Amino acid sequence: MDLKKIIRDIPDFPSKGIIFRDITPVLQNPESLCYAIDEMMEPFKELDFDLVIGPESRGFIFGVPIAAAMKKGFIPVRKTGKLPYEVASKSYELEYGTATIEIHKDAIKEGQKIVIVDDLLATGGTCEAICGLVEDCGGEIVCLSFLIELLRFDGRKKFAGLPVHSLLKY
Ligand code: 5GP
Repeated sequence: MDLKKIIRDIPDFPSKGIIFRDITPVLQNPESLCYAIDEMMEPFKELDFDLVIGPESRGFIFGVPIAAAMKKGFIPVRKTGKLPYEVASKSYELEYGTATIEIHKDAIKEGQKIVIVDDLLATGGTCEAICGLVEDCGGEIVCLSFLIELLRFDGRKKFAGLPVHSLLKY
């Protein structure tokens, strides 16, 4: 299935000069939704791991069905101030300013193996911060899977030594 034909390109969103890859049409259609989820979890099928982790909000959309299909748990990564219990936090650089992401402190047990799922890899800043959070909590990232990879940012270089899987490359 050619998902590139289904993904909608939105010029100048959220700001001028950016082409936003809108994945919502993939979600609307049952065939493309199931295909995307199946393909994104392919690299995990032979892998020994304990949990899926994904950032809000599109990391939840793909991460939860993959975790459930593989009979694993899911850890939500949220923007600062959203999680109700004690949190571990990590800040990272954006083009303008910084962002902070959080997980619940008790989400990961020492030595657990974790895979990252998100819709899109650009600079890799978000997932690099997730790797830092997981390590701070005693876990280990073992694989990353994305629907889309924007090659011009070369984000995968931030995860040298780890398998980085992406279905569609732009
Ligand atoms: P990075 O941290 O790798 O630079 O950016 C990746 C994050 O930004 C992902 O969580 C992704 O959801 C979001 N993102 C950035 N650009 C796009 C885009 O064009 N389309 C979509 N769907 N998400 C984007």
